[in-house]
Amino acid sequence: MTNLLQIENLSVEYKTRRGIARAVDNVFLNLEENKTLGLAGESGCGKSTLGLSIMRLVPHPGRINEGKILFNLDESLIFEGGSVEKGQIDLMQLDDNQMRAIRGRKLAYIFQDPMTSLNPLIRIGDHFTEIIQAHEEDVKKDEAINRGEEILETLGILPERITDYPHQFSGGMRQRVMIGLGIALRPRLLIADEPTTALDVIVEAQILDELATLKKQFNLSMLLITHNLGVLAQTADDIAIMYTGRVMEIAKTESLFEDPKHPYTQCLLKAVPDVRKPDKTLAWIAGAPPDLIDPIPGCMFRPRCEFAMEICATQPPPLEKLDTGQRVACYLYTKGVSKK
Ligand code: SF4
Repeated sequence: MTNLLQIENLSVEYKTRRGIARAVDNVFLNLEENKTLGLAGESGCGKSTLGLSIMRLVPHPGRINEGKILFNLDESLIFEGGSVEKGQIDLMQLDDNQMRAIRGRKLAYIFQDPMTSLNPLIRIGDHFTEIIQAHEEDVKKDEAINRGEEILETLGILPERITDYPHQFSGGMRQRVMIGLGIALRPRLLIADEPTTALDVIVEAQILDELATLKKQFNLSMLLITHNLGVLAQTADDIAIMYTGRVMEIAKTESLFEDPKHPYTQCLLKAVPDVRKPDKTLAWIAGAPPDLIDPIPGCMFRPRCEFAMEICATQPPPLEKLDTGQRVACYLYTKGVSKK
C-alpha cells in the first residue's frame, strides 16, 4: 500500500511571552491511500497543530521549525506563475503559491465550528462558487452551483437549499455544508478536526456515516482529529495517540481497543463509556499534562503514570515497533530496561 502522507521528525513551536512551547515534538506518522488515520488525545496535546502543519497553516506565533511533510501528488499542478511536479513532494519545500495550489485541490481541512468558517453574508452557492473558481478558473458559475447541488444531495441536503444563507441551517447541516465545501475540489486528503464535537450523538453518527460514504465515493484518505476515541472506533483504520505534542502509540484500531499498550492509551480507554457495559466505572486521569514551556525531563506522562520507573526520568522514550505491530513510546516495552 502506498503512503499518501509521510510525516518525518516534525516539530512545531509557539513563541509565547513566557517562552517557547513545543506543541508538536519530533512526530513521525504515515497515512496510506484510501485509509483513515485517527489522531486522538486530550485537549492541547498538539493534534490540531499537527493537522494545520500539514496545510502549512500553523497560526502566528507558531512555526514549523523542523521536519518533512511528504505528500504523494498524483498529477502535476500548473497555475499562473508556477507549477508543482507530480510525485512525492515535501510540502515544507513549497512556496506560498505552490502551497495555495495544493490546498483545496489535494488537501482540504474541515474545522470544528462551521459558523466561524462560513461567511454569514454569503449564500451557500456562492461559497461553492468561490472555492471552485479559485482553483478552476474555467468553471462557470452555473457549473459550480450544479456541482455544489450534487454534493449537497450526496450529503442529504436538498439541492435547492444552495440559495440559503448559513444561519438558515441547523448545526449538523452546517457541518455537512463544510464537509461538502471541503470535498468540492475532490481532494485526496481530507483533514477533519473535531468535525462532530458540537453535535448531538444522533447527528454525529449520521455525519460519521456520511464521511465514510464520501471516503469510498471520492477515494479520499482522511486524517480524523478528535478527543473522542468512540468516534475513531467506528471510522479509523489506524489510530495515533498524542500527548504533549508527542506520539505515544500508533496501532490498528482493533489492536488499540483490544490490547492498548501505552499506559496513557490505557487510561484514555478506561474513560470511554461503553453502552454494552453499563456497569463500567469510568476512570479519569489524575493530574494534568506538564507545562510545554518548561517540560520535564524523560517521559512527559511520568507524573501521571502508575508504572513510572527510574529510567522514565532520563530521556523521552523512543517510539518502538513491537512484535504485535503496535508502535509505542514507553520504557515498559524497551528490551533490556530494568522494570523497577
Ligand atoms: Fe510510564 Fe515510564 Fe512508560 Fe512513561 S515511559 S508511560 S512513565 S512507564
